[in-house]
Amino acid sequence: MISKAMQDAFNQQINKEMFSSYLYLSMAAYFESDNLPGFGNWLRIQAAEENAHAMKFYNHLLERGGKVELKAIAAPKAGWASAMEAVSEVLTHEQQVTKSIHDLYEVALKEKDYAAQVLLHWFIAEQVEEEANASSILDSMKRIEAHDTAVLMLDHRLAKRKED
Ligand code: MG
Repeated sequence: MISKAMQDAFNQQINKEMFSSYLYLSMAAYFESDNLPGFGNWLRIQAAEENAHAMKFYNHLLERGGKVELKAIAAPKAGWASAMEAVSEVLTHEQQVTKSIHDLYEVALKEKDYAAQVLLHWFIAEQVEEEANASSILDSMKRIEAHDTAVLMLDHRLAKRKED
């Protein structure tokens, strides 16, 4: 049986992962309406991944006799000043998610919850990858900055991104 503290923390995280999914869907719509379908493809895939992250916590709670409590998902922003601003926000958002995963790990240590620690090891490694990916795309954007043709080339690269 999972402790109340761990259960509450995981329910909060389900909400954060669902918000991430919502945020990336909103960004995908922003890019696609700006005729950058490759960026849209990348963010639609990210959104689906965030949903899968929420489900990992959801399944874990159910497997351990915990209670799933779904909370209201906040509305994400609907527009960004530029592609650069949106990509930059992906990176800062992922950095915040990393912090919340590390906070969950602290709870798992305090609760001596070994099963939760194992689950969180996967998330800790996943966040390294998420930050590296966002950082790499942002670096490419910084190099090309105002060159629209290069932004289109990056858009083609992101269009090739497939679900893992
Ligand atoms: Mg996530």
